[in-house]
Amino acid sequence: MAKVILLLIDAVGFDAAVSCMGTLEGYVEAGLARRWKMRTELPSLSAPLYETIHTGTPPVVHGIRSNDYVPLSKGPHVFGAARAAGKTTGAVAHYFFSELYNRAPYDARRDMEVDDDSLNIQHGRFYSEVRYTKANLHLPSEFDLFTQVTVMIDRHAPDYILLHAFAPDAVGHIYGGDSAEYRHEIWAVDNALAETLPIWREAGYRVLLTSDHGMTSDGRHGGTSDVERFVPFYDVGNPMGGADDQVVSQLCVAPTSLALMGVRPPREMTASPLASA
Ligand SMILES: [Zn+2]
Repeated sequence: MAKVILLLIDAVGFDAAVSCMGTLEGYVEAGLARRWKMRTELPSLSAPLYETIHTGTPPVVHGIRSNDYVPLSKGPHVFGAARAAGKTTGAVAHYFFSELYNRAPYDARRDMEVDDDSLNIQHGRFYSEVRYTKANLHLPSEFDLFTQVTVMIDRHAPDYILLHAFAPDAVGHIYGGDSAEYRHEIWAVDNALAETLPIWREAGYRVLLTSDHGMTSDGRHGGTSDVERFVPFYDVGNPMGGADDQVVSQLCVAPTSLALMGVRPPREMTASPLASA
């Protein structure tokens, strides 16, 4: 039985990850991590696929259909199932996750920083609006977000921690998914991981990394092209290291997170876990 950190890095396509994330690929080559190619559900948009990643169901089933309106999740979801099994939960993430799993609409003063056992995300650190123009691009740095996770581990050691980082999406929309700027943001995530992965592994965590969707060369996602639909799924700590050739479904993420913690996935999560504790 392990604790789990799920790194959900927004808008990281499969090919971009494999070519830019040298630290993670080094773990794969050394047999210390396993990597799959994962097909996202549709539409290839953030909020619908955040919910897919946490419920193991497609948007047509869970009902979060766009980024325009983000209500509370109807579940069952990873945070609720983990809590029901006596596990503790945490997240460092965009405020959409507070709306999906804690309280909607988001009230920053009340919701931005919570340590409350009655919530689905018991230890929550949320950030809000990100500027999306070339002249005014304010993004939380990966270094700060990853450090918040490490501090949360030191203080609370939650069994499940979601880390959600945003920069590849924001930069990809502005410069396109085939740009030096986009690839730099993906490398920056990998570079932050070089320092933090050993710390998190030492603390007893399996570290999963995936994305909600990819990014087209003209800075879009939402459709069905390969660059929008194929994302990576890494499992650092999987005893069977290396690259797995099969294409797997995004519906596998939620049951895999739970199985690694020794929690039986709810029956609504129909896909099989990719790994177990
Ligand atoms: Zn986007």
